[in-house]
Amino acid sequence: MKIAIAGAGAMGSRFGYMFKVAGQDVTLIDKWQDHVSIINRSGLTVNDNGVTKICRIPAVLPDRADGHYDLILVLTKAMQLDVMMKSIRPIIDERTNILILSNGIGNIETLEKYVSKEQIYAGVTLWTSELDGPGKVTLTGSGSIELQKIGEGSDQFFQALIDTMNQAGFNAKVSRNVLVSIWQKAALNSVLNTYCTILSCNIGQFGGLENAVELLQPLVNECVTVAHSSGVMIDRDAILKAIGTIFDPKMGGDHYPSMYQDLHSKRRTEVDFLNGAFSRMGDRLHIATPYNHLLTDLIHAKEHLARAN
Ligand code: NAD
Repeated sequence: MKIAIAGAGAMGSRFGYMFKVAGQDVTLIDKWQDHVSIINRSGLTVNDNGVTKICRIPAVLPDRADGHYDLILVLTKAMQLDVMMKSIRPIIDERTNILILSNGIGNIETLEKYVSKEQIYAGVTLWTSELDGPGKVTLTGSGSIELQKIGEGSDQFFQALIDTMNQAGFNAKVSRNVLVSIWQKAALNSVLNTYCTILSCNIGQFGGLENAVELLQPLVNECVTVAHSSGVMIDRDAILKAIGTIFDPKMGGDHYPSMYQDLHSKRRTEVDFLNGAFSRMGDRLHIATPYNHLLTDLIHAKEHLARAN
């Protein structure tokens, strides 16, 4: 399969690497000039669970991408998606299939500005990845993916996509209701990413706080009320259970969420597609979301202070 990875940061590099090792025709697309140059000059350096490998994959800046791709896998941060789609418009035609695995609410609506529903596939992934610098990525652990067609796209392509992902070891399976999974993950991230960033702690430290439950329950309740009123029937108990599981250091409790890392690198965070999305929808539906409102504003204030310092 001819695959372009649009947004070849931590996750895009992982996906590009795994597809390439499985023999697929992969191109990385990223706007980060140093990253692109180093990958083309010296290959992508991958620390694959402790073993260093050099993977030769072509990388291009968005305005240098050309040709037809069977699949464009989009893996920017949610707030970068719109600009990315605009910049890769020249390589999108009516036969191009787009898969989005980025976190956050609203990504599918953004894709619909550029392609028809029939071309869109969306999923959530439990794979993780970390960038160590330009051209270098560290992969630990394993993961899985659940994905679904958003419109009436080709069943044949969808099956080929699942097969190609599984040949590359992604543990991909068909989701019956990917929106529920996307929104549940957004609710979980709205708790853990946001509180850990505001409190400057890792997930396990947040879970160990005496008042963690008082802090997280009303927030989860707001997300659930907004989701249900929007027709997306997320499961409150499943979200609380998933949060409780990640508090364990063996399950990711010693991890600092990506929002924390973005803030400390003075980058914009995905808050507008997590707590911000729940609070905007709450406003439209006349549902009070004071926790999501306040947390969104606090993260914006922290982003502002980080940039000013
Ligand atoms: P990242 O910041 O490492 O990578 C994003 C990449 O997109 C960057 O390299 C950036 O240069 C590139 N980019 C952004 N805008 C662009 C544009 N207009 N043109 C070209 N390139 C552009 O982010 P990530 O950690 O890989 O996360 C991607 C998504 O996956 C996010 O939604 C994140 O929440 C989600 N996610 C991440 C992990 C993880 O472990 N890192 C796990 C699960 C889900």
